[in-house]
Amino acid sequence: MPWSELLRRVFRDDLLVCPRCTGPMTVLATITDPAVVVAILAHVGAPTEAPAVAAARAPPQVHFWPGGCDPPADLDAYDPA
Ligand SMILES: [Zn+2]
Repeated sequence: MPWSELLRRVFRDDLLVCPRCTGPMTVLATITDPAVVVAILAHVGAPTEAPAVAAARAPPQVHFWPGGCDPPADLDAYDPA
């Protein structure tokens, strides 16, 4: 599977379609030198360090939901009070 299809599945964006004019886009270059990558990211004001990896969240404690093990179908409307 092409890399662009994998990214489209994750981010729902087709990276080969220009977001401004919807024209086709192609990869012009691949930058693999870490020093160059850091310099470019710093120049555009983007973080140059990878974010810290957060701990995984525990699964929901479904036995606390009223009426059984299944949470309410509409969690946005659920009022625990
Ligand atoms: Zn364009």
